[in-house]
Amino acid sequence: MISPFLVLAIGTCLTNSLVPEKEKDPKYWRDQAQQTLKNALRLQKLNTNVAKNVIMFLGDGMGVSTVTAARILKGQLHHNPGEETRLEMDKFPYVALSKTYNTNAQVPDSAGTATAYLCGVKANEGTVGVSAATQRTQCNTTQGNEVTSILRWAKDSGKSVGIVTTTRVNHATPSAAYAHSADRDWYSDNEMPPEALSQGCKDIAYQLMHNVRDIEVIMGGGRKYMFPKNRTDVEYEMDEKARGTRLDGLNLVDIWKSFKPRHKHSHYVWNRTELLTLDPYSVDYLLGLFEPGDMQYELNRNSTTDPSLSEMVEIAIKILSKNPKGFFLLVEGGRIDHGHHEGKAKQALHEAVEMDQAIGQAGAMTSVEDTLTIVTADHSHVFTFGGYTPRGNSIFGLAPMVSDTDKKPFTSILYGNGPGYKVVGGERENVSMVDYAHNNYQAQSAVPLRHETHGGEDVAVFAKGPMAHLLHGVHEQNYIPHVMAYAACIGANLDHCASASSAGGPSPGPLFLLLALPSLGILF
Ligand SMILES: [Zn+2]
Repeated sequence: MISPFLVLAIGTCLTNSLVPEKEKDPKYWRDQAQQTLKNALRLQKLNTNVAKNVIMFLGDGMGVSTVTAARILKGQLHHNPGEETRLEMDKFPYVALSKTYNTNAQVPDSAGTATAYLCGVKANEGTVGVSAATQRTQCNTTQGNEVTSILRWAKDSGKSVGIVTTTRVNHATPSAAYAHSADRDWYSDNEMPPEALSQGCKDIAYQLMHNVRDIEVIMGGGRKYMFPKNRTDVEYEMDEKARGTRLDGLNLVDIWKSFKPRHKHSHYVWNRTELLTLDPYSVDYLLGLFEPGDMQYELNRNSTTDPSLSEMVEIAIKILSKNPKGFFLLVEGGRIDHGHHEGKAKQALHEAVEMDQAIGQAGAMTSVEDTLTIVTADHSHVFTFGGYTPRGNSIFGLAPMVSDTDKKPFTSILYGNGPGYKVVGGERENVSMVDYAHNNYQAQSAVPLRHETHGGEDVAVFAKGPMAHLLHGVHEQNYIPHVMAYAACIGANLDHCASASSAGGPSPGPLFLLLALPSLGILF
């Protein structure tokens, strides 16, 4: 049986009716290309200002196929065919590729990669803020192998710093900014093996509050890891899984408050209403924990209790930009990855579109004259879309043909592996019999796995602002924070900064020297 959707898709393809009228005129394409050329020629004058501010957007699991599909979705949400749409990140002038492998893994995880793009050193999968000399789960291999992050370098140079994520604030990506842990899963002491506890290793939530004590902005999920074991959650009173987890009985929110100077304004909030009633211009420190674990998917978000990523970014920048020395902000669209792991492409892509919205928000509040903005991913996923779909085909739609082998239709979006593998009566499921446009539809996969896996190919790095041109080719992922630090004149490599000011910029001599060095790793 062929669904009405399939018939529509085939009809569209044959009639060519979705080609926008203006695109039939060659002048349209020539004018557009000439304008792009003009813009490219203007880039020959490099922006060598000192970056007062650095903003890093990290789309967890946002491989290139995810970026393209999110672009089409964004366009289709605005009732356009979609392919021609420009994401906010598409407007960045410089794009590079990042090689994402971990020291011990061809296909990486989010912990080892976070250590690379935040600390500038590649590491083993599953470890955060430590070099490859640390083995996962081995607490006694941690000491002496800690590596510090761009967040710490920015703080040490007097900048304000912030972390905003849609995952737990002690999840792999943000944790590499402040923690040193042999295992990314040590969210609180409740998740740690007795051996690690007896050897003196600290859980990641504890480290968040103690390692860099004056992080100005922390927003995301992860409430339960901050409170004593079995403490009832403020929002989900009946949910046992939402209760506090800490075996040491500490209340880390109280500890966070106690570390703040009396004369400063520090606020802990746990819901959107509280967040939006704050005046960011009079807030010095903000801790926002909006869920016991990860935040909700954007498509499922309760707009009374949970802020969107864009809202969090707007408030974070208002708070951080009060510092005349500038700021470093890490923003993670953390649940793109989770959507993909569950095979739920619609959830993943809506997360990516929301992160793009946040990128636009940050762009509207800052200037490329003094703010370096980088958008990248930690790794890709085995997510793909294809099938000769016609222009404007719903990104969640069917390919315009049936398989010439099993004679069944198929969705354009597919996964290499994952939970969407479905066999009915010995054959591949007929997708026209199911609601493949549902928010939680799990796209078909070639290999059955409870959790779809990461992908191993390179990811994109988009950059704009001072020194963005240093991201220009195929780079090792750990190069990224070296560029951010060089641009902002923070960290260890400061020779070029002596005569630089935000109006002037680093002199060309030391820049040449830097690029000529065989290994940037020795500089930090
Ligand atoms: Zn993942």
